[in-house]
Amino acid sequence: MPYFICPHCKRRSIDLDGYDGFSSQTVQCRECGFGFLFELLEDYYPAPETGFVVCDRDKRVLAAGRGVFELTGYRDADLIGREIVEALSLSDPSPIEVVQEWGVRKLGQELAIKTRAGRDKAVTVDFFPAYDDDGGLLLALTPR
Ligand SMILES: [Zn+2]
Repeated sequence: MPYFICPHCKRRSIDLDGYDGFSSQTVQCRECGFGFLFELLEDYYPAPETGFVVCDRDKRVLAAGRGVFELTGYRDADLIGREIVEALSLSDPSPIEVVQEWGVRKLGQELAIKTRAGRDKAVTVDFFPAYDDDGGLLLALTPR
C-alpha cells in the first residue's frame, strides 16, 4: 500500500480515495494545502522536530517544510533552486547517489550540515527516492 506524506506539515495519509486517476504530484495536502504529497513505499513516522526537503533529479531544492528553518536557519526562499549538498554543506553526499541510482531508501545516516550561521550541526538524515518518473528525492533531517 502506498503511503503519502506532506513535505510541508508532515501529515501522513494512506486514504487517497477520491483522487484515483490523478498523479501523486497533483494531490494537495488536505491539512495545509501544500501542492503535492511525496509517496513512500512503506509507512514512516517522522520525529516532531524532523524537517523535510524535497529535491528534483538534479538535487536542487523544490520545497522545504516546517522544521527546516529551525534546523538550518534557512527559509524556503533561501534554499529553493539550490543544490542540496552545497546549500547545507552536507558532510557526505554519497547516500544521495545510492538513492538515485538504485531507488532505495537510506535511513538513519549520521551526517553533519552547516547552518546559515556557519555552525556545524549533527543530524540524522533519512533519504527517500521519488517513485514517479521525475527521479527526485526527499530528505528528512532530524537533529541528534
Ligand atoms: Zn501539509
